[in-house]
Amino acid sequence: LALRALAVLLVAALALDALPPGRAEPTPGVSLDLDRVVPEPTETSDYLGYQEARGMVQRLSDMAPDFVEMLDLGPSFGLDNLQGGHDTFPVFAVEVTNERSSVPREQKKALVFQLSIHGNEKGGREGGMRVLEDLARPLLYGEDYRALLDDVIVVFTFPNVDGWNNEELPYRTGSCPPRFPVESVPCPKGSGYTRGNGRGADENRDWPTLGWYETRGGREQALSEPEMVAMNAYLLGFRGRTLAAADIHGMLSPADGGSGGQGAETVCFPAVGAPQPLPFGPRGGGERCLHEGHFVLGLMSARRADPLLTARDVRYAERSKAALNDMAAKEFPYWTSAPSLGYAGGPWMEWGTVWDTIGYTDSGFTGDWFGQTLGAAGLDYEMSYNHVVFDNHYVPEVNKMHVESVRAIVRAFLDEAREEQSVALKVDGTVAYLQDAREVTDADDPPQQGPHLNSTDDDAYEVPYRVTPQRFWRDLARSAPAGSVVPVTAEDLAAGRFHSAKTLVIAGDAWDLVKDSSTALQHLAMHLDQGKRIVLTDSAMRALEPLGLAKEGSVAESKQYLGYVDLARDHPLAQGVRGLARQTYDGVPLGFPVPQDAPVWVVAKDALDGADIAGTTGAEGNASLGKVQAGKGEVVFLGAVLPTPSEAAYHPYGLADYAVTYTGYQLLYNALGVTQEDAPLGQPLQPAAEPPAGQPRATSAPALPMLVAGAALLALALRRRDG
Ligand SMILES: [Zn+2]
Repeated sequence: LALRALAVLLVAALALDALPPGRAEPTPGVSLDLDRVVPEPTETSDYLGYQEARGMVQRLSDMAPDFVEMLDLGPSFGLDNLQGGHDTFPVFAVEVTNERSSVPREQKKALVFQLSIHGNEKGGREGGMRVLEDLARPLLYGEDYRALLDDVIVVFTFPNVDGWNNEELPYRTGSCPPRFPVESVPCPKGSGYTRGNGRGADENRDWPTLGWYETRGGREQALSEPEMVAMNAYLLGFRGRTLAAADIHGMLSPADGGSGGQGAETVCFPAVGAPQPLPFGPRGGGERCLHEGHFVLGLMSARRADPLLTARDVRYAERSKAALNDMAAKEFPYWTSAPSLGYAGGPWMEWGTVWDTIGYTDSGFTGDWFGQTLGAAGLDYEMSYNHVVFDNHYVPEVNKMHVESVRAIVRAFLDEAREEQSVALKVDGTVAYLQDAREVTDADDPPQQGPHLNSTDDDAYEVPYRVTPQRFWRDLARSAPAGSVVPVTAEDLAAGRFHSAKTLVIAGDAWDLVKDSSTALQHLAMHLDQGKRIVLTDSAMRALEPLGLAKEGSVAESKQYLGYVDLARDHPLAQGVRGLARQTYDGVPLGFPVPQDAPVWVVAKDALDGADIAGTTGAEGNASLGKVQAGKGEVVFLGAVLPTPSEAAYHPYGLADYAVTYTGYQLLYNALGVTQEDAPLGQPLQPAAEPPAGQPRATSAPALPMLVAGAALLALALRRRDG
């Protein structure tokens, strides 16, 4: 500890002068790049300190004044120091862009990288600092991206400066500050880097996100912490022009992502001593070690994402997965060479929804706010061995893993930002959906009682809302070929004016509009007799009973953590579902508290005659996805995808219309006869309407109307500028 303290003091002394930082003594036989301002992880003996890092950024800014700018956003909550005083530290962001380009700052697109919002998850800021230098000087891959910096501001944020500074000697031995009473955030006293800020608050639960908002455990409201007030005010400036955002975190160890609510981590690393299994997970016996699981997980945000937004998310996920796996094969072949063990093994990086990867979700996540408020594509990243492990012990190889992972993520985002993201849907016949004009609105919602009413910082988010899951169909129709997804009214349905459609879909509570109409029921049966298809989702599965396809009283609502289906993965209705994903919708943005409040409709497994079950939900094994032959046609049901948002729980920042996951999309597309084609990764930016000769675009001819309609797509495409 004495040596450690000395090192901290030395670093602090150097940082005071804002000079190039001190470096470790060269290791014999290791080649050093002594020109770097921010040393490579294997060329230093400690993590970067806060003051030290700011000195480095200042130095980079002096070296590249037209490209690098450090912005102080506001003071942190602060830490008590050894002398009995209290110090606060500026929360800051660094912008990298060509300030001399002809594009005005307010018109530039943004790429946002949030680094280490949990102060003990050091890898984000460790990697971000190196990337800053790579871009600024430019080193390594920096030169390749200079043209992009004419149009784009690459933003790096350092939101948790208390949790960072707490490791320094004057603070780590200080008294416990007035505590934010969240049990999972321990008092910083005596520890090094901390998850929370100086008050012990978890900044990554403090964002104004849609839907149910957690107030238990002493959590008061969004934007309760000064750091998040400052960050929110700054980042709102990029609303609507953020191409993508990444929120870079750490986890204890490699994780078996993609197992749907079971994605537990298991600690098993020699340096930690005896295996320390977490008390959950399918095989939480600590038997999995370094070579197992995924070293980086990508977590998709929860929001209303139309087909194009979903495709954008997937592209950033796939692009970063490819970049990370390439990097790992080159830099860490000995870490990844062990054979995978069942579902726990696999590539260096895997991605999925939050629940499908780490097994829980919550309100107030930055990543959800990035998606919901900034309109950004992107992911949260969880890097292994990047948490309390190695807090007080610097392992160069492990820090290198985090730094190289961040480099790969940023590179992937820069690459993707230069390209067009598009989606082309093909529809088998016409899909007609039953229209339901009802909306869930705050207009008839009694004023909410809740702690957020005390806050003025979140006033911008207290806006009226009118939401409906029907928005999903309107968004789908915009992305599909013109005329292929069309509404029918309840009157049309009762009069049989829908039989020209190959598929009729009745989603959720829209069933209420026709459930008492005997002529509607007759026309549904007639539709099936014509060899056509009816798709029933969510509460509309009740129609199985009057159609005579399920026994009376066998269709029921169950309450689950989130919307999900355990899939028979070789079933045609489950085709195209990635890995072990099973989450079909996010409940939190729709107002459903976790755990156990998200509706999933099921039909008793023994109540269907001759049904073809493709998926179940719940311990009882009741069916939530399947197909029943009826007449010459068929009825497909999916019990968890488009529930009506709920106002029952506290939802101070409004509700989302729908929150279908990429898995939910895939299951719906399978049910509806919709197929999606994506532009391949690496396709250069091209005018959308003019495919180069001899190079067929992924967007095939029938998709042209979609391209014309997809103004959002074109707006996303960066202008290609010459010279
Ligand atoms: Zn974290």
